Amino acid sequence: METTAFQLNPRTADFVKSKTIKKLFIGGQFVEAVSGKTFPTYNPATGEILAYVAEAEQEDINRAVVAARDAFEDGPWSRMLPQDRARLIYTLADLIERDADVFAEIETLDNGKPIREAKHVDVPLTVEHFRYYAGWATKITGDVIPVNVPNLHNYVRREPIGVVGQIIPWNFPLLMAAWKLGAALATGCTVVLKPAEQTPLSALYLAKLIQEAGFPPGVVNIVPGFGETAGKALATHTDVDKVAFTGSTEVGKLIMNYAADSLKRVSLELGGKSPNIVFPDADFSRAVPGAMQAIFFNQGQVCSAGSRLYIHKSVYDNALADMVSYADKKVRQGNGLDPKTTMGPLVTGEQLNRVTGYIEKGLEQGAKVATGGARADGDLANGYFVRPTVFYDVQDEMTIAQEEIFGPVVAAMPFDDIDDVIKRANLTTYGLAAGVWTQNMSTAFNVAHKLKAGSVWINCYNMFDAASPFGGFKQSGIGREMGEYALENYTQIKSVWLNYN
Ligand code: ADP
Repeated sequence: METTAFQLNPRTADFVKSKTIKKLFIGGQFVEAVSGKTFPTYNPATGEILAYVAEAEQEDINRAVVAARDAFEDGPWSRMLPQDRARLIYTLADLIERDADVFAEIETLDNGKPIREAKHVDVPLTVEHFRYYAGWATKITGDVIPVNVPNLHNYVRREPIGVVGQIIPWNFPLLMAAWKLGAALATGCTVVLKPAEQTPLSALYLAKLIQEAGFPPGVVNIVPGFGETAGKALATHTDVDKVAFTGSTEVGKLIMNYAADSLKRVSLELGGKSPNIVFPDADFSRAVPGAMQAIFFNQGQVCSAGSRLYIHKSVYDNALADMVSYADKKVRQGNGLDPKTTMGPLVTGEQLNRVTGYIEKGLEQGAKVATGGARADGDLANGYFVRPTVFYDVQDEMTIAQEEIFGPVVAAMPFDDIDDVIKRANLTTYGLAAGVWTQNMSTAFNVAHKLKAGSVWINCYNMFDAASPFGGFKQSGIGREMGEYALENYTQIKSVWLNYN
């Protein structure tokens, strides 16, 4: 179905359909790229162009970093009281809530995700995230240290790190911007944020609200562009104090290398190949839909997706049959703007090819498809849709059980006992998340504590809260987003000594 079949909020229509170029947001102003270049952003459900966006390159990044530096060192931001900083972040949250419908529609148009998820997950989590970190702005305290020297007072300040470069992916464009901006703004940093080239629109709409909220110019700069140009320019910039990145492990390694030259602080939230383990005593009325949502949520384009599904051998056949039936009957694929849609298209043609490539590889290596296993046809042939896919007869060493597919493709495997499954679950270079389904709390805690993963969900999956930390073990990342933990990413410690003798 074409997008024109859906009634958009007039403000969304105006933002997305207006012929004007979406400009970069630098120093509080919307500006064209120095080169004058633009790039198109597409609706993945239909392949149509949604808008043209100014393309940031090295010179634009330089301008944005200068604006962020000025705001950090000399501007009103550097003198602002914590409570006023908090108030600005609260105001931004209120404005996002006011425009929640517009954000949800922009997100669905640009990314493809179902509007019901954009409305009920992405946007409300974004609002809550900003509110949570607004609260932190007034609660970042230091310490007094009982040093062993007479007449000396020693205290520790937690100071903002400075100018932060933030590079985010396309799977949750608005929410990832919030995850990055919340803690950075609460701590008093200034930011140059590069959205993913596939999904720049919601961050640019957010820029309008940042302006409306009254943030001083240069505190947040938003510079869409490509990874190898804009992203690299930001991560290598000598006047950027810290780079925070969310994306693939492959690019995460590049970022660390770029940062090495000027010893920038780095935090990375990277890929995963998360095990989801179903024990025979699980409540199957929850485990079956839970395991399927763990992989199908957001079309499987979730770094924590439960893509390796370990099912105890005694229940394997039955559970698998129920899961396949769930995938066939409960997943409703279509244009994300349709409120009934539960699975939209993948974000780009490139992503479609990558996912179908993995499906072919799985078949070549001897895995079998229980359902799905191909691009969707018929009405959905114009968009980048892949059928929800369940593989069985998968071996741990097969590519589809090792590499991150980032699509609605799950590899189901039977296991023998707890020791067997813990060993196999940990047999990966990743360590982002894991799921455990059992009614026995002893099993649950034992497994949860032995899994090498930054998040473990017991009898649930993909749960997120601004107050709870998220991040990876092993090659899934460095540092934590969210909660008090994320403040570490954006502050540095200063020890001050005073001789009062
Ligand atoms: P994906 O493969 O899922 O698109 P990436 O890790 O390539 O994920 O992209 C995540 C973010 O990293 C995007 O904003 C992208 O533009 C950016 N990026 C990609 N390559 C580089 C690079 N070489 N340097 C800096 N940023 C990059």
